[in-house]
Amino acid sequence: MDKKMYINGEWTGGDLEKLEVRNPATGEVYGSVPMAGEKETRKAIDAAYRAFDSWSQLTAYDRADYLKKLTRLLLENEDEVAEIMTKEMGKPLHESKGEVQYAASYLEWFAEEGKRMYGRIIPPHKQGKHMEVRKQPVGVVGAITPWNFPAAMITRKLGPALAAGCTFVVKPPEETPLTAIKLVELCEEAGIPKGVVNLVTGDPKAIGGELLSNPHVRKITFTGSTQVGKLLMKQAADSVKKISLELGGHAPIIVLDDADVDKAVDGVLASKFRNGGQTCICGNRVYVHEDIHDEFVDKFVKKTKELQVGDGMEEGTMIGPIINKAGFEKIDKHVRNAENQGAEIAAGGEGYEKDGAYFYKPTVLTGVKPAMLIMNEETFGPVAPIQKISSIDEGIKYANQTPFGLAAYVFTESVSKGNKVVNALDYGIIGWNDGVPSAAQAPFGGMKQSGLGREGGKEGLEDYLETKYVSIGTE
Ligand code: ADP
Repeated sequence: MDKKMYINGEWTGGDLEKLEVRNPATGEVYGSVPMAGEKETRKAIDAAYRAFDSWSQLTAYDRADYLKKLTRLLLENEDEVAEIMTKEMGKPLHESKGEVQYAASYLEWFAEEGKRMYGRIIPPHKQGKHMEVRKQPVGVVGAITPWNFPAAMITRKLGPALAAGCTFVVKPPEETPLTAIKLVELCEEAGIPKGVVNLVTGDPKAIGGELLSNPHVRKITFTGSTQVGKLLMKQAADSVKKISLELGGHAPIIVLDDADVDKAVDGVLASKFRNGGQTCICGNRVYVHEDIHDEFVDKFVKKTKELQVGDGMEEGTMIGPIINKAGFEKIDKHVRNAENQGAEIAAGGEGYEKDGAYFYKPTVLTGVKPAMLIMNEETFGPVAPIQKISSIDEGIKYANQTPFGLAAYVFTESVSKGNKVVNALDYGIIGWNDGVPSAAQAPFGGMKQSGLGREGGKEGLEDYLETKYVSIGTE
């Protein structure tokens, strides 16, 4: 699959050096895209800048029509998009299909939410004044996205940006540009006018550098590592761009003494092993109350051992490959560090390499201690470390002991205990008896070093709007 970039309604970049995309389940080359840099990014930004006037002047209803057409096309092409996604990223095919639907839900929801871009009238403090607030699109948006959700991390940004009247330049990750390109092909098929959506592939530093320094870009939206997020925040300072960051997490899961153990086991499995543990809201560390610890561990280990590892294209696979060698090595480092410090391996505990593809067996560690690496860093892999706790306060203390604050989970049947934990946790997203909280209509984002801004929900649209206050003298 040899693909091009999309700038100002043209497929371009065929003459540039190529960037190869590998299938992480087989190690084979799956496709290639152009290796672009500053020059091409500048062209894409110029195109988006020129398209802004006419796109922003359409009514929200007209823009919604385009987004709904795109939603329909994406759903109609679910099988094809899902296959591309599994082959370039590795997640099991059923999860890729789920992601297509999830990605489409953001387009559909923001198509509607764009119609509710209300300003307001403010009562004046003296006669002869009319005071109002108008909402306007921020302008050209630069989006930088990660590989773990190759479609949804784009539509989460594209949906609200286009609904608000912004135009868009996206830089997909080196690992998964082909899903992004398919998405943009569907934008073209939906008739979205040229220049409104542009896609540039290639060198992250060069493309990022241009997106961050170009004065025509008014907002940067990024999902990825905390390290790169901090760098972008510094770069954005020079031209004071609006910035939304969805960064790393290190999600705690607290299972209290009165939890419904079966419900908790299923919730933790869903939170921990989705996408092979490679999502920023995956539970990374599990704190289980001592009174139910052994029962929870028995049931959880049994179900974990049933999860089949393999190529995501194969029927029955529940855990696909790890995205790359560096990801694999980090996971193994966390497991070895825990083992060396006395943790027990109750399931899995090792990975393997096959023809340049990396797999890790779903792993459960027990007897885990707070100082172990895995309790202090995001693992991004299929490993569940379990630490025993003896009280609700201990669970809260450990959960908050991190610079991150994206997602956290609590399992309890008690309303008062659940509320106590929810109130005490410094996290932007909390799943209470729920391992899969994300939804297009709900605000997703983190506190502390997990980010700035929210995606989804009405907050997700607000992040693409400027507020203009107008005071009119009426006498
Ligand atoms: P991950 O660990 O998920 O790969 P990264 O933060 O490295 O997280 O990557 C997320 C996105 O950020 C990718 O699209 C990647 O290409 C991009 N990226 C990486 N480094 C830079 C940079 N210096 N400037 C702009 N974008 C970057």
